[in-house]
Amino acid sequence: MTIDQGNEAEPDEQRHRDVVVIGAGVSGIYAIKKLIDAGFDAQVLEADEDLGGTWYRNRYPGCRFDSESYTYGYSFSRELLDEWNWTERFSPQPENLRYLNFVADKFDLRRHMRFNAQVTSMDWDEANCLWHLTLGDGDVVTARFVVASLGPLSAPTLPALDGMDDFGGTSFHSFHWPKDPVELAGKRVGVIGTGATGIQIIAEIADKVAELKVFQRRPNWSTPLNNGPISTEEMSEIRRRYDDIFAACSATPGGFEHQPKWGFWDKTQDERRALWDELYEESGFAILAANFAEIFLDEDANREISEYIADRIRQRVDNPKVAEKLIPVDHGFGTQRLPLETSYFETYNRDNVELVDISEHSIEAVTTTGIRTAADHYDLDVIVYATGFDAITGAYDRIGIHGVDGAGLADKWSEGPRTYMGLLTSGFPNLLMVAGPQSVSGSTNFPRAIETGVEWVTELLCNLRDQGIVRVEAEPEAEQEWLGEVVKAHERLLLRRSKGWFTGYNANVDGHSEGTIRYQAYFGGAPRYTRRIAEVAANGYPGLNMTPSDDRLSQAEASETEVRP
Ligand code: NAP
Repeated sequence: MTIDQGNEAEPDEQRHRDVVVIGAGVSGIYAIKKLIDAGFDAQVLEADEDLGGTWYRNRYPGCRFDSESYTYGYSFSRELLDEWNWTERFSPQPENLRYLNFVADKFDLRRHMRFNAQVTSMDWDEANCLWHLTLGDGDVVTARFVVASLGPLSAPTLPALDGMDDFGGTSFHSFHWPKDPVELAGKRVGVIGTGATGIQIIAEIADKVAELKVFQRRPNWSTPLNNGPISTEEMSEIRRRYDDIFAACSATPGGFEHQPKWGFWDKTQDERRALWDELYEESGFAILAANFAEIFLDEDANREISEYIADRIRQRVDNPKVAEKLIPVDHGFGTQRLPLETSYFETYNRDNVELVDISEHSIEAVTTTGIRTAADHYDLDVIVYATGFDAITGAYDRIGIHGVDGAGLADKWSEGPRTYMGLLTSGFPNLLMVAGPQSVSGSTNFPRAIETGVEWVTELLCNLRDQGIVRVEAEPEAEQEWLGEVVKAHERLLLRRSKGWFTGYNANVDGHSEGTIRYQAYFGGAPRYTRRIAEVAANGYPGLNMTPSDDRLSQAEASETEVRP
């Protein structure tokens, strides 16, 4: 596909692409692979100085997969599966970053990536049917199609505390953990936040620092990761099973091998507890994803599993008062994204670790020497803000995206995203989203959903090219219908009442706090989602408005601008 813009200046070869992919993370890497293989002139624009996305950024101690490594890796290449060895059941960040570099190098993808290229705005040019992407350095790139591979958790958020800039020690958001090693030995460290990130950091650094103060607003349910090494023999066995592993992942709602079951009330309480005893010792999300499905839907079932997990926490924490503070009371087990932990609860049995309950005495300010709460002052050398993300839509909002008639995407999504299957959004033609808002990616094993999304988007682009179509846009009615499906799936689940990023809650972001459900992710399960989008493709893309190049040509001629596919 080449574009001649007639009287207008010929676009610089390097400044115009058929397809621009934004982001060189897990989804962007696969997107560029597929697009290049399909013959598109495509390029990745990546804000960071290197590839890896979330695994490039999140360098904090303890950072690792909580999906089994061999279910997280790409499935698309047998050769890749044969060549790569995972060394741990839940691989740590350095290995994950090495893996993504290995993939990029193996398929020679790096030359299709432009680094230090932060897209700061995107403007739709209706006359020429192009996106104009402005970069941080002022450069402008045009593209007929844009594939947004922005990542659901790439827009970190900080609390708005008085005095944060005045702190005399070292402080940073976990997402911006410095590349150079941070000296923690002998230091007094404060961690704000007890989500999946905080829980990994706290457990990892507790025995390495002089003092650790954990500033907890709300506790999270958390269960053992049960990590371990993968021996050479086990890796061979995994390699032999790969087809079965990926087939199993594609058949489960969460995209894991773990399969939930019905029948909570058919078992006695003792039988249920016996099952949970087993699942608690299993690795990864087994306790959640191989549990009874009723725990996600039925208040009584959820209460019982929550009581079971609470007892487990009580058994692991010596001080009963501290144990009670670590047990959530505002939401049931499995109704927010479950962090997985390694000796997290035992951390609070250490003399150098203190849990500071900021729901009781809130943080008043960060001072030059530490953190002042309503009750006390804590002297600190390092403050880590593990305070989460403007999840799923934040990365879109942070780019000024303007579509038809200059309408802003952030304005359109101010009450929550509106999309067609999480893949397109009306008013923003030729913008395709991988793992986008209201897709299944936010609620499942991420790379499994990414592969589905990338393959769907690439197939669509191939179809458009074959049919000479230069403009594609979701129909508002189709989008409304999809919203209905998203809401229906969401409302079925007990998570509808929780205050986590799944439901779009983040009090650090204006308009994303209490009372607002943003319907950010599709919770109907991966198999249903995959079937749904496959049907749309098989049926010739109902819900998408497509404009062939002939129509564009006559419009362009009328406005003395020529666009030839
Ligand atoms: P998060 O789950 O949103 O947790 C943020 C934490 O910061 C919460 O404890 C929150 O408290 C606290 N917080 C936020 N603003 C605060 C404020 N102003 N004052 C005091 N406390 C504040 O974020 P996250 O831990 O970074 O995890 C986000 C997601 O990243 C996870 O759910 C997961 O999907 C992914 N992740 C994955 C892994 C992995 O193992 N693969 C590891 C880490 C993260 P409240 O609960 O009271 O709001």
